[in-house]
Amino acid sequence: MEERTIGKWTIGLKPRLSRERDILCDCLYCLNFRKAVKDLNEQERRLFDQLSLDPARPDLLSDFPAESFPERYYLGHYELAGQLLDGPPAASDHWTDENTETIGRFRIGFSNGSKLRLEFETVLPWLLSEPPED
Ligand SMILES: [Zn+2]
Repeated sequence: MEERTIGKWTIGLKPRLSRERDILCDCLYCLNFRKAVKDLNEQERRLFDQLSLDPARPDLLSDFPAESFPERYYLGHYELAGQLLDGPPAASDHWTDENTETIGRFRIGFSNGSKLRLEFETVLPWLLSEPPED
Protein backbone atom coordinates (compact mmCIF):
# COMPACT_ATOMS: atom_id res chain seq x y z
CA MET A 1 0.00 0.00 0.00
CA GLU A 2 1.37 3.40 -0.94
CA GLU A 3 0.66 6.47 1.13
CA ARG A 4 -0.54 9.69 -0.42
CA THR A 5 -1.09 12.98 1.33
CA ILE A 6 -3.96 14.94 -0.16
CA GLY A 7 -4.80 18.11 1.74
CA LYS A 8 -5.66 17.10 5.30
CA TRP A 9 -5.93 13.39 4.52
CA THR A 10 -3.54 10.48 4.32
CA ILE A 11 -4.68 7.79 1.94
CA GLY A 12 -3.33 4.26 1.71
CA LEU A 13 -3.63 3.41 -1.95
CA LYS A 14 -3.63 -0.06 -3.51
CA PRO A 15 -3.36 -0.63 -7.24
CA ARG A 16 -6.81 -0.44 -8.70
CA LEU A 17 -8.17 -3.30 -10.76
CA SER A 18 -8.70 -2.29 -14.34
CA ARG A 19 -12.26 -1.96 -15.46
CA GLU A 20 -12.73 -3.18 -18.97
CA ARG A 21 -16.47 -3.33 -19.00
CA ASP A 22 -17.39 0.18 -18.07
CA ILE A 23 -19.43 2.04 -20.60
CA LEU A 24 -19.26 5.80 -20.79
CA CYS A 25 -22.53 7.70 -20.78
CA ASP A 26 -23.16 9.69 -23.95
CA CYS A 27 -25.53 12.35 -22.65
CA LEU A 28 -24.53 16.00 -23.23
CA TYR A 29 -23.73 16.57 -19.55
CA CYS A 30 -21.34 13.64 -19.30
CA LEU A 31 -19.75 14.55 -22.63
CA ASN A 32 -19.23 18.09 -21.40
CA PHE A 33 -17.72 16.84 -18.14
CA ARG A 34 -15.22 14.64 -19.96
CA LYS A 35 -14.28 17.53 -22.22
CA ALA A 36 -13.94 20.00 -19.36
CA VAL A 37 -11.68 17.75 -17.27
CA LYS A 38 -9.20 17.54 -20.14
CA ASP A 39 -8.31 21.10 -19.24
CA LEU A 40 -7.53 20.89 -15.53
CA ASN A 41 -5.24 23.36 -13.85
CA GLU A 42 -2.00 22.18 -12.27
CA GLN A 43 -3.44 21.78 -8.77
CA GLU A 44 -6.39 19.76 -10.04
CA ARG A 45 -4.27 17.55 -12.27
CA ARG A 46 -1.96 16.83 -9.35
CA LEU A 47 -4.91 15.67 -7.25
CA PHE A 48 -5.97 13.09 -9.85
CA ASP A 49 -2.37 12.07 -10.60
CA GLN A 50 -1.65 11.45 -6.92
CA LEU A 51 -4.62 9.10 -6.74
CA SER A 52 -3.91 7.51 -10.15
CA LEU A 53 -7.41 8.45 -11.25
CA ASP A 54 -8.62 9.32 -14.72
CA PRO A 55 -10.72 12.43 -14.08
CA ALA A 56 -12.89 11.59 -17.10
CA ARG A 57 -14.11 8.37 -15.46
CA PRO A 58 -16.00 9.09 -12.26
CA ASP A 59 -17.96 6.16 -10.83
CA LEU A 60 -20.91 8.42 -10.17
CA LEU A 61 -21.68 11.72 -11.83
CA SER A 62 -24.69 13.97 -11.38
CA ASP A 63 -25.14 17.36 -12.92
CA PHE A 64 -27.26 20.43 -12.41
CA PRO A 65 -27.41 23.89 -13.96
CA ALA A 66 -24.92 26.11 -12.13
CA GLU A 67 -25.78 29.59 -10.88
CA SER A 68 -24.21 31.17 -13.90
CA PHE A 69 -25.57 29.78 -17.18
CA PRO A 70 -24.32 27.79 -19.06
CA GLU A 71 -21.81 26.56 -16.48
CA ARG A 72 -22.56 23.16 -14.97
CA TYR A 73 -22.55 22.06 -11.35
CA TYR A 74 -21.28 18.48 -11.13
CA LEU A 75 -21.05 16.16 -8.18
CA GLY A 76 -20.14 12.54 -7.82
CA HIS A 77 -17.40 10.23 -6.72
CA TYR A 78 -14.46 8.13 -7.83
CA GLU A 79 -13.95 4.74 -6.22
CA LEU A 80 -10.49 4.02 -4.90
CA ALA A 81 -8.80 0.84 -3.77
CA GLY A 82 -7.32 1.49 -0.37
CA GLN A 83 -8.25 3.15 2.85
CA LEU A 84 -8.35 6.44 4.65
CA LEU A 85 -5.44 6.34 7.10
CA ASP A 86 -5.79 9.77 8.60
CA GLY A 87 -8.05 12.79 8.31
CA PRO A 88 -11.78 13.42 8.76
CA PRO A 89 -14.08 11.26 6.63
CA ALA A 90 -16.81 13.00 4.67
CA ALA A 91 -20.34 11.70 4.33
CA SER A 92 -21.87 12.81 1.04
CA ASP A 93 -24.88 14.21 2.87
CA HIS A 94 -22.84 16.01 5.50
CA TRP A 95 -20.13 18.25 4.10
CA THR A 96 -18.50 20.74 6.41
CA ASP A 97 -15.38 22.89 6.27
CA GLU A 98 -13.72 20.31 8.54
CA ASN A 99 -14.28 17.26 6.37
CA THR A 100 -13.82 18.84 2.93
CA GLU A 101 -11.18 20.86 1.17
CA THR A 102 -11.09 22.89 -2.03
CA ILE A 103 -8.46 22.03 -4.61
CA GLY A 104 -8.70 24.24 -7.66
CA ARG A 105 -12.34 24.17 -8.73
CA PHE A 106 -13.02 20.89 -6.91
CA ARG A 107 -14.42 20.67 -3.41
CA ILE A 108 -13.45 17.22 -2.24
CA GLY A 109 -13.80 14.80 0.65
CA PHE A 110 -13.04 11.13 1.24
CA SER A 111 -15.73 8.78 2.44
CA ASN A 112 -14.74 5.50 3.96
CA GLY A 113 -17.72 3.18 3.74
CA SER A 114 -17.45 -0.29 2.24
CA LYS A 115 -15.25 1.37 -0.38
CA LEU A 116 -12.97 4.35 -0.20
CA ARG A 117 -14.29 7.15 -2.36
CA LEU A 118 -13.12 10.53 -3.47
CA GLU A 119 -16.29 12.60 -3.33
CA PHE A 120 -16.38 15.85 -5.26
CA GLU A 121 -18.40 18.80 -6.37
CA THR A 122 -17.28 21.29 -8.97
CA VAL A 123 -18.53 23.94 -11.35
CA LEU A 124 -17.16 23.55 -14.87
CA PRO A 125 -17.61 25.54 -18.04
CA TRP A 126 -19.90 24.43 -20.85
CA LEU A 127 -17.67 23.53 -23.78
CA LEU A 128 -19.99 21.86 -26.26
CA SER A 129 -21.34 23.74 -29.26
CA GLU A 130 -24.80 22.38 -28.47
CA PRO A 131 -26.36 24.27 -25.55
CA PRO A 132 -27.57 22.45 -22.41
CA GLU A 133 -31.14 21.28 -22.75
CA ASP A 134 -32.43 22.57 -19.42
ZN1 LIG B 1 -24.66 11.11 -18.77
